[in-house]
Amino acid sequence: MKYHTIDELLSNNQSWVAEKLALDANYFNKLADGQKPPFLYIGCSDSRLPLTNFTRTEPGELFVHRNIANQVSLTDMNFLAVLDYAVSHLQIQHIIVCGHYDCGGIKTALEGRSTGLIDNWVNPIRELYLQKQQEIDALPTREARLNRLAEINVLAQVKNLYQTPIIRKALHEQNAPNIHGWVLDIKTGLIKDLNISTVQWQILSSPLFTNSSILNNMSEIHPTEGVAGCCCEQASKSKLTTAEN
Ligand SMILES: [Zn+2]
Repeated sequence: MKYHTIDELLSNNQSWVAEKLALDANYFNKLADGQKPPFLYIGCSDSRLPLTNFTRTEPGELFVHRNIANQVSLTDMNFLAVLDYAVSHLQIQHIIVCGHYDCGGIKTALEGRSTGLIDNWVNPIRELYLQKQQEIDALPTREARLNRLAEINVLAQVKNLYQTPIIRKALHEQNAPNIHGWVLDIKTGLIKDLNISTVQWQILSSPLFTNSSILNNMSEIHPTEGVAGCCCEQASKSKLTTAEN
């Protein structure tokens, strides 16, 4: 790959501005009016993943939080502040958790290769792997094992979003954003929608639905498969608990 020089970044900026202004003389005046992005993108820090390029989105469309292996950490104040601002103030309509294949964080978690502090950061993914070890180890190739763990990781982070007080509050107020789990395949450039069903987590997260008729119809809800210890078991346990009460 050819890399730009630092000076080229600045000259590229000037030519890009000129191109934008040629198309719309008010382009930057409109940007300066403020932001109302419809999407919060939670992605990996990997340099190959600027979602704006892959989705042809413009400045002002994606509010962004990125970290190694796209973690939704319930103790990360940086992330929680981003989520709170996006949901409570910007009132974004969709949250996209976008993982990717060939992720260094996933490799570290799966193979236990020591890379310093990243070991600590990806430990929750290591735990996901250990919970699903039998399924993942049975896959025929290293690539398939890594890809599967990348998908399980996205599913787990989508579930984690429903554990945050921010999303719980939004559910309570009936203005929660739609949450999507995607995986980007670096080899093809294509995004795969994991089509994660989140309804079971919405119900379990929202006090609005406690003891409601929806809980009594849990059998009609089809939990998302494949997340370590997340949905089928917890949903059915919850139903049992509710029935017992
Ligand atoms: Zn990554």
